[in-house]
Amino acid sequence: MGKTIIISNRLPLQINISENDLEVSPSVGGLATGLKSFHQEGDSIWIGWTGLASEEIPENLKPKVLEKAKSQGCIPVDLTSEEIEKFYYGFSNRTIWPLFHYFMEYTEFDAEHWEAYKQVNQKYADAVIEKLEDGDTVWVHDYQLLLLPALIRKEKPKVTIGFFNHIPFPSYEVFRTLPWREEILRGMLGADLLGFHTYDYERHFLRSVNRILHYDINFNAVNKGNRIVKADSFPMGIDYNKFRNSALEHKSQPKSETTDIQKKLDYHKYVSKGTKLIISIDRLDYTKGIANRIRAFGYFLEKYPEYQENVRLIMLAVPSRTNVPQYQLLKKEIDELVGRINGKFATVNWTPIWYFYRSMPFDNLIDLYTSSDVALITPVRDGMNLVAKEYIATRTDNTGVLILSEMAGAAQELSEALLINPNNFEQIVDSIKYALEMPEEEQIRRNKIMQKRLRRYSVEKWAKDFMTNLRETTWTRKTFR
Ligand code: UDP
Repeated sequence: MGKTIIISNRLPLQINISENDLEVSPSVGGLATGLKSFHQEGDSIWIGWTGLASEEIPENLKPKVLEKAKSQGCIPVDLTSEEIEKFYYGFSNRTIWPLFHYFMEYTEFDAEHWEAYKQVNQKYADAVIEKLEDGDTVWVHDYQLLLLPALIRKEKPKVTIGFFNHIPFPSYEVFRTLPWREEILRGMLGADLLGFHTYDYERHFLRSVNRILHYDINFNAVNKGNRIVKADSFPMGIDYNKFRNSALEHKSQPKSETTDIQKKLDYHKYVSKGTKLIISIDRLDYTKGIANRIRAFGYFLEKYPEYQENVRLIMLAVPSRTNVPQYQLLKKEIDELVGRINGKFATVNWTPIWYFYRSMPFDNLIDLYTSSDVALITPVRDGMNLVAKEYIATRTDNTGVLILSEMAGAAQELSEALLINPNNFEQIVDSIKYALEMPEEEQIRRNKIMQKRLRRYSVEKWAKDFMTNLRETTWTRKTFR
């Protein structure tokens, strides 16, 4: 068996340049954890962008970047700031991202961005092809690289290629509006196996293939004439034990850090005893339904005034894609909404919303998860939503209530949560009340079922499942050729 090549837009590395020297440290996102067993322990390489524009890395440090990345099994793809602007912020985040999340009014169809997308996908493909040998397995990740499977297949027809889409795949009626719909589908169909978080995304994809390219679909297989391509659902999990154990550790020895969030949580614990705590954690993205969530919380305080001074929303919004205009507008809207609700309801002893616009160190995140009574997660659309799963994993005493939007992929696996339609205000506010009053036995009963499921289908299991299926797909192809 050959080696495995993993390709994602970003490498699982963090590069910091200071005073003509550089530091490279591994970044520990969900994907990196899931692929650890293939990447660190096996014979594999990871190809992707460093996160820094070519112009930001001094020429004399470039060999060092290559060398340090190589020592961690990574090969960087060098992107110029113009490529990042048009390929990443442009086509990936102003066309594919909004369209695939059903935000058609935010979707831009810009031919120049499309050209850059094609050209940069080719750049990634060239980097892969340079390292590719017969017998290797390639695993391509996400919406920035939809053309990559076919570009690789063109050069190396026999290689085994998998693709995983980490965001939703929209229904045919939405997908068909894309001017480059055929090219995108043909790009994806270069793979042997296409993975999606849910069965619905998989069916949407297959329907689009059937309607747009007129290929026959047999259950979950596309008949391309010369090749069969399979699509399947693999809901991505979390590193369950890491979250569980960190929460247990945290409980036995609370951290003495004095970050502002820590001070707030301490204040909440010791000063406003009895006040219930609701958490809300996401990247600041229009798909996450943050503005509506704040409105719903304001409405909750109005509809159930007995909860004024008795509940608090602690909201973490992590800065994201700050140079895309919609994100800047959303930030402004959220700032104003928080101000309006706090202005309207605050008393001398109580501020209804504590709002943080930053990212949190892991320990603080665990702190937030474990200190709260309710997690309020209400995306309008979300491919999966790992925060929901992490919240459940950290509830070591099995209490706590998850309110989750049915528009998140995670809702398929977390049916014991209080599922809500994020556009239904009455349902959200009544669910908040129900959550705050839910008897402990009921909380425990619901959480135990979800925990069992999350423990069993961890991110490692997800990665293994995908790889096993990918290898089976090609085995079948070779055997019955
Ligand atoms: N997260 C983080 N720092 C923070 C807040 C969140 O690293 O300050 C992590 C969180 O633990 C989760 C991820 O960011 O693993 C968010 O993943 P999710 O699927 O919920 O949403 P996405 O941002 O991928 O749309």
